[in-house]
Amino acid sequence: MTYPARIWRERHSRYRLVGVRCKKCGAIYYPPRPVCEKCKSRELEEVELPRRGKIISYTILHNPPVGYRDQAPLVFALVELENGVRVFAPLTDVDPHSVEIGMDVEAVLRRINRKEEYGVIPYALKFRPLIR
Ligand SMILES: [Zn+2]
Repeated sequence: MTYPARIWRERHSRYRLVGVRCKKCGAIYYPPRPVCEKCKSRELEEVELPRRGKIISYTILHNPPVGYRDQAPLVFALVELENGVRVFAPLTDVDPHSVEIGMDVEAVLRRINRKEEYGVIPYALKFRPLIR
């Protein structure tokens, strides 16, 4: 099978949710950071995170940050992934009024547009309700 070069090059960042794990104490972070907050170790390795989780809390922004203005109102959620790691990211494909604590969601990694790339939030991760 052949892929257009760009898609092939971006396959990991687009389809995997990658964080880092501290080799010393095992703490996991997303987004990746260079130093462990708990033990100050700089030895962190990439680790793939589970894409599914539950909403722990959320907030509806009627004036979202630069890069998301055309999506208002925008829901930002704190999501606890299946391995316990907590990630703060916007929701997509959702009616803001239907969002609930405990809702099952899955990560979607979308190509970032130019505005988002230079915005204050440097990642293209979003979560959408999980349809069972
Ligand atoms: Zn550590």
